[in-house]
Formats: sequence, C-alpha cells, structure tokens
Amino acid sequence: MDERRKQWLLRQAKELGALDAVLVCPEKIVVSEWVRWKCQYGCRGYGGRLTCPPFSPSPQQTRLLLQGYQEALLIHGEKAFAIRYALSQLEREAFLEGYHKAFGMGAGPCRLCEVCDTAGSCQHPSEARPSMEACGIDVFQTARDHGFEVQVLKSPRTPGNYFGLLLLE
Ligand code: SF4
Repeated sequence: MDERRKQWLLRQAKELGALDAVLVCPEKIVVSEWVRWKCQYGCRGYGGRLTCPPFSPSPQQTRLLLQGYQEALLIHGEKAFAIRYALSQLEREAFLEGYHKAFGMGAGPCRLCEVCDTAGSCQHPSEARPSMEACGIDVFQTARDHGFEVQVLKSPRTPGNYFGLLLLE
C-alpha cells in the first residue's frame, strides 16, 4: 500500500473515533474454535442477533475469507458502539476510495434495531456487520500480537478495550 493511502486510512479511522489504528497482515489474525464456544456457552446474546453466532460465519469460513486479503486495518477504541459505527463508515469510505473488497468487522452484538428478527432478514444490511469475535477471531491474542496491552476486565467499572477489523485488499 502506498504511503498516501496508508496515511489517509489511519486519518479516517481516527476521525471516526478510533484511539489507535494499525495496518496488519491478515495471515497474522488469530482464528480459534474456542471463541465460538465462548459465545455459545457464556454470552447471553447468543442467537439474539443476525450478526452473532450461530448466524455469523464459522471460524473455518473466516480462515478462508482471510486468505483472500493481503492487508487490513485493526482499530482500537473504548466503546463497542463507536467501533461498530467507525467500521461501517470506514468500509464505505474505503470502498469509494477504490478498495472494492473492503469489509468491516466490528465489536459486540449489532444494536441497530431494538429487536432483531432472527427468523427474517436483516433490516440494515449495508451497515450491520458481525463482530470479530462472532466470526471466531481471537481478539485478545490478535490485539496483543499487534502491540496492544489488553487484559481480562475484573470489574464492570473498568474501562474496556474494543477492536474492529477492516479487510482491505
Ligand atoms: S441491523 Fe437489525 S436486523 Fe440487522 S442484524 Fe442488526 S439488529 Fe438484526
């Protein structure tokens, strides 16, 4: 990626609310089976949104998807909704900039509708995206491998760390 495009992307991510953003090689993104098991056994949101398991892509599908990309942007923020918003905007802006394969993954369950009709089809298909974890990405390990210090939160009052991924080309 040329320097101008790289700087443009990093600037866009920060303008959309990211605290940090780094370019990453998709083959360094860690995908693990256990992530989905944690969704199924431990998350009250399991099956509640079309962007969550069991509706979201499986870890195996995610591995195959990542093989089709050479460059991606990992973005970091303090709020899940801000990351989701930034990712849907970034995907659109990257597409218009010429990245025709641009695809974003956010953080946490989609909250665009008050109630998600999981028996029907998505009401906002151009904005709703699965989270990284919903696709089987080990967000902890991927973030740590790219220099972010993330720990398990021991209290609901502790500020969180949320990550999103923009697959580029
Ligand atoms: S946009 Fe609405 S229908 Fe689509 S996944 Fe999100 S909550 Fe569900």
